[in-house]
Amino acid sequence: MKEKIYTIPVNEGFEAGGECPFCNMYKGLEKDAVDYMLGPSYMEDDIRMETNRLGFCPKHYKHLYIQQNRLGVGLMMHTHLQNINNNLEKLCRDYKPDKKPLFKKAEGNPISDYINNISNSCYVCNKISATLERYIDTFFYMWKNMPEIRESVKNCRGFCLDHFSLLVAEGQNKLSAGDYKEFLDILLPLEQENLKRLEGEVEWFTDKFDYRNKDKDWGTSKDALPRAITKLASEFVEE
Ligand SMILES: [Zn+2]
Ligand SMILES: [Zn+2]
Repeated sequence: MKEKIYTIPVNEGFEAGGECPFCNMYKGLEKDAVDYMLGPSYMEDDIRMETNRLGFCPKHYKHLYIQQNRLGVGLMMHTHLQNINNNLEKLCRDYKPDKKPLFKKAEGNPISDYINNISNSCYVCNKISATLERYIDTFFYMWKNMPEIRESVKNCRGFCLDHFSLLVAEGQNKLSAGDYKEFLDILLPLEQENLKRLEGEVEWFTDKFDYRNKDKDWGTSKDALPRAITKLASEFVEE
């Protein structure tokens, strides 16, 4: 039973189709995380402590902003700004640059190190990646123990570049040498075939701009660009 709870989201990611099952899983987690942030959770102390410290990445600021709970976003941003102002006040007060030889590059400084850290941290990204890591573990568990997942992999349209690379790297850690070889024998041709399929679809998309092709059938190329963006950049764009 417990096993089933973990395998459901992985199976659903494959069932949703598209250019990458793991991007489907990511998208579901992202939606849940943003909804959760703007539910009653933003009033909880431990979550507010974390959002005050980490803030959000540009993409997730945008996601939060377009939701309807502007008060929730406002309250989170207010205390996050308070937190930054307190830290920055102290850092600016204490900052005494070392004397460095001319033309020698300085090795960072506490003010830009602090700002870089905040710019690269995001509460929502952290929350998603912790769960996605568990899904990757579950996927390899399924690969070892549940033959159905192999059929799901064979029948999918490959993975986005990022998740393909993750599967190649993680498979090496999580599978025995024999299982890993078998995994690669399926994964590598599958990914290359699907990248070539997409290359052809995008090519036909561009060929359709030629007036001689105006009345020819789009085939599967009409939404080739948004699908190519998912494949190349793990991102979903509206058609
Ligand atoms: Zn992906
Ligand atoms: Zn983020």
